[in-house]
Amino acid sequence: MTTHVALTARAFDADKMFITDKDSRVEKTINDVTDRFGGDFEIVEKRDWKGLISDWKGDVVHLTMYGEDIDGFFGSVALKDPLIIVGAEKVPGDVYRMSDYNVAVGNQPHSEVAALAIFMDRFNERKVKRDYPDARISVMPCKGKKRILDYSKIPTIDECYGFCVEKGMDEDLMKHTLSVLERAFILQYEHGGDLKLVIAGAMLHDIGRTISHGPDHGVVGAKIVREQGWDEELAKIVERHVGGGISKEEAEEQGLPSKDMIPETIEEKIVCHADNTAGGRERFEELIHRTRSAGYQNSADRMDELAEFFKKK
Ligand code: SAM
Repeated sequence: MTTHVALTARAFDADKMFITDKDSRVEKTINDVTDRFGGDFEIVEKRDWKGLISDWKGDVVHLTMYGEDIDGFFGSVALKDPLIIVGAEKVPGDVYRMSDYNVAVGNQPHSEVAALAIFMDRFNERKVKRDYPDARISVMPCKGKKRILDYSKIPTIDECYGFCVEKGMDEDLMKHTLSVLERAFILQYEHGGDLKLVIAGAMLHDIGRTISHGPDHGVVGAKIVREQGWDEELAKIVERHVGGGISKEEAEEQGLPSKDMIPETIEEKIVCHADNTAGGRERFEELIHRTRSAGYQNSADRMDELAEFFKKK
């Protein structure tokens, strides 16, 4: 249970957890998670829990089924740097008295893990923490299959830039790449997605153009990315950025590998849309018009749909 309280506190954006008696098994699990998934959450031993509460500079909140109702609590109180207390068993009366607030997550008995998760979720205004510095891996939100990013296989912005130069990217293409990067940054800020992946995707989206300027440049670029041993998620961004993406049928008609290359993940959509809109609104309209005139009706429709998607979210 202590491990689960710690995992929950970490996942819902606490800095640290205080416990009266250090437990090496709990610490090992948490350090292992932090090592792989990032962040700097720590467990601190504090035997003098009364001292901790009385010296705490921010607000002290004790979660208990006997407290005031959580509904309405956040509307009436603006918590500052809260210390949140949960009990493992019967909680000493002093905790009730010394806390600034005793709050009930419903007045039914349940668990410290549930109480903590719900309280912190509301404290965070239901925004899930996504940014974990120094993470080695990250699990991406996904409706279907598992998506796990291995950051050792995502080149940094400097590495991408160096790679573009090494591949002989000319000045015009580099300028375009950097304006797609700028646009992608803004879209990521507004709509989420993994920042490191978006940066690498934007930087390398047109790497295939160092070889071909045809509609195959996405496929060519993805092949280059795969040959580098970089993450498949990155290869897919490059492969799926052309126009509004290319369907399996369209790919066959154009002599491309027979597979769907339509952007699905938020990062794929961001880079695709950033590429379409990096030149501004007029250029985007012109691009859609050109795509339609060239007979790629469906691709133009998908470009429009992507624009709608980013307008709505
Ligand atoms: N007698 C304890 C109490 O005051 O809630 C119950 C012990 S329970 C096994 C362990 C912890 O879960 C409690 O100390 C409390 O922090 C938390 N908890 C259980 N039910 C809760 C509820 N309805 N609201 C808030 N916290 C709750």
